[in-house]
Amino acid sequence: MAAARSFLGVPVYKPRVAFFELSSCEGCQLQLLNNEDTLPDFLSLVEVVNFREAMTGGTDDYEIAFVEGSVTRGDEIERLREVRGKAKTLVALGSCACFGGVNQLKNRFDPDWVKKEVYGDRQVESERAKPLEDIVTVDLRILGCPINKKEVEGIMVNLAIGKEIKTPKYPVCMECKANGNTCLFDLGEPCLGPITRAGCNSCCPNGRAGCWGCRGPAEDGNLAQMTVIMERYGFSKETIIDRLECFGGFSDYASQLRTIKLKNSS
Ligand code: SF4
Ligand code: SF4
Ligand code: SF4
Repeated sequence: MAAARSFLGVPVYKPRVAFFELSSCEGCQLQLLNNEDTLPDFLSLVEVVNFREAMTGGTDDYEIAFVEGSVTRGDEIERLREVRGKAKTLVALGSCACFGGVNQLKNRFDPDWVKKEVYGDRQVESERAKPLEDIVTVDLRILGCPINKKEVEGIMVNLAIGKEIKTPKYPVCMECKANGNTCLFDLGEPCLGPITRAGCNSCCPNGRAGCWGCRGPAEDGNLAQMTVIMERYGFSKETIIDRLECFGGFSDYASQLRTIKLKNSS
């Protein structure tokens, strides 16, 4: 049973939540535990019943399941289906779960060659990396590699009180400009900020590093124009595709781009 809790005398429901990982670095889960200042407040919103990175034991009686990582093995498919069967709400946590993430970089190559290069002669199952929604229905996606803890806390409050969850529709450039940064294109660095969904407070450009698109496409992002901009600043087709392919959110467009002849193609 969820513990009773109230705000201004009104009972507030504390959902039972569980955290799971598939193929991942577990950095998204770690991100949740990272900020000790707000961790007690965060934990007071929910009843955590399963979180291997933070507690021992746990139960399978949960309402909201946060699943980190992409699907790369048969046993992960079974496990994910089982979690989906138990959870009322299934949340894809981070770029690996949402788009395949950095794991899906291997999808560019022959899987047998990848296994041989990485594991030698050891018999290891490691197939094409897939996002969760290729296997089960996903109710909510939390973007980023890693996720932004503040954003997750906001989402958790809304989940707990049953409020609609909104992620920014606009691109990273909006946050970057609001933060007063000099555009990295003018400093000779490529950046996917014009087409990537905001919500990270433009964290990479704030530190003078171009965006690699870990949060996936912004709504109505003009991918073709992004390519034109990259070309105008002298970046090669390979540089553009490298960036677009990094986290999986733009992989369809990157595949299309491979078939198109660009001005700076090698
Ligand atoms: S999204 Fe990034 S931080 Fe999160 S599990 Fe995947 S690789 Fe790790
Ligand atoms: S640095 Fe990147 S995010 Fe910032 S304004 Fe330029 S293109 Fe947009
Ligand atoms: S700036 Fe781009 S790559 Fe960096 S965290 Fe934000 S969305 Fe991800």
